Amino acid sequence: MTINNKAAKRITLLGSTGSVGVNTLDLIRLNPDRFDVVALTAGKDVDALIFQAREFRPEMAVIADPSGYQALADGLRDLNITVAAGPEALIAAAELPSDLALAAIVGAAGLPATLAAVQTCSTVALANKECLVCAGDLFMEAVRRNGTTLLPVDSEHSAIFQVFDAENVQSVERIILTASGGPFRDWTSAQMATATPQQAVAHPNWSMGKKISVDSATMMNKGLELIEAHHLFPVGEQKIEVLVHPQSIVHSLVGYIDGSVLAQLGSPDMKTPIAYALAWPERIAVAGEPLNLAKISKLCFEAPDFKRFPALRVAREALQAGGAAPTILNAANEVAVARFLAEEIGFLDIYRTVEDILALDQSDKSDTLDEVLAVDAEARRLAMSWGTVGSAAE
Ligand code: NAD
Ligand code: MG
Repeated sequence: MTINNKAAKRITLLGSTGSVGVNTLDLIRLNPDRFDVVALTAGKDVDALIFQAREFRPEMAVIADPSGYQALADGLRDLNITVAAGPEALIAAAELPSDLALAAIVGAAGLPATLAAVQTCSTVALANKECLVCAGDLFMEAVRRNGTTLLPVDSEHSAIFQVFDAENVQSVERIILTASGGPFRDWTSAQMATATPQQAVAHPNWSMGKKISVDSATMMNKGLELIEAHHLFPVGEQKIEVLVHPQSIVHSLVGYIDGSVLAQLGSPDMKTPIAYALAWPERIAVAGEPLNLAKISKLCFEAPDFKRFPALRVAREALQAGGAAPTILNAANEVAVARFLAEEIGFLDIYRTVEDILALDQSDKSDTLDEVLAVDAEARRLAMSWGTVGSAAE
């Protein structure tokens, strides 16, 4: 008989009801001796949160939308779980003592709670790439100041992390971020002009939340990931390339000065990078068919098309411009994606919104959290009225 004396890892899960959150809980469910859930948070989906909290019995359950408070309190009344609502409560959940916080809220809305987790938890597993895009410098500074271990959950960055020689950064020649190309990889710009939200969220390989699915269709997702990689792996922006790989099997590569190129491969299933971050530095089993390369037979690669997917160019330009530009890029993109999903603007208007708002004014600073939030709010305000009569950025 083997006796496992190791204490369970205490997990705070920010954004538990989303695609990454649900995958994370699936893994925790299969490893009850390894993980204890300390806190669960959701945006609006109170029924899903109640259901999860009843199963995983966290110390605290938080709903970001204050109007969900009463339903949450009623749903968990018979259990010893602290219930709270609103943005401050999200931060309180992130500040509970835990070993690992998994940041899976979508968008800059997750920034304050994720930053709080960086200050409290020894390890933060980051799915929320928008945190690094809108506040990369100050986020990484908080990571360094607090000595936090930051583990990427985004599949490309998890791949890079697994093959990146952090002790010999000068031997890294380049990082190659792979991109599936999304559902419109073969479409002309004229076809994309009339793309519907339903077509845009139908990703060929990955099952994900709506926002990131639209980002994959515009390829802004790869632009956001370029900025994310720039902060996580400090090799210089010019050394980070994008390569289209439609099968999503090679999750990214690192090239070294001696000509070696190391890659991490796997099926397109977020459970693998999530499991890697949850168990790190160990590994846990993930169920499913082993990767069968003979069956897949062909892995294809092609250069990205910046003409049909201008979001890639716009994101790199924002990274090169620095200052407030990445914050503006992220905020304008979040609003434009929401407006596209609400059928207020067309698919190609997403990158146009972002590009026009970036062109307006970039003199703002975004060095402190307050400055980031102010820049973010102003870019959102402008993006909301983009394309309407009298807007500043028509
Ligand atoms: P999702 O939309 O499925 O889930 C988002 C979660 O955040 C939900 O729990 C939702 O309730 C919560 N939320 C939404 N708005 C909120 C708010 N204002 N305040 C507090 N909570 C809020 O998103 P997802 O696909 O799981 O993605 C989560 C993050 O992970 C994103 O940043 C995304 O880019 C990143 N990511 C996702 C995948 C994927 O496969 N889904 C892969 C790589 C990276
Ligand atoms: Mg990714």
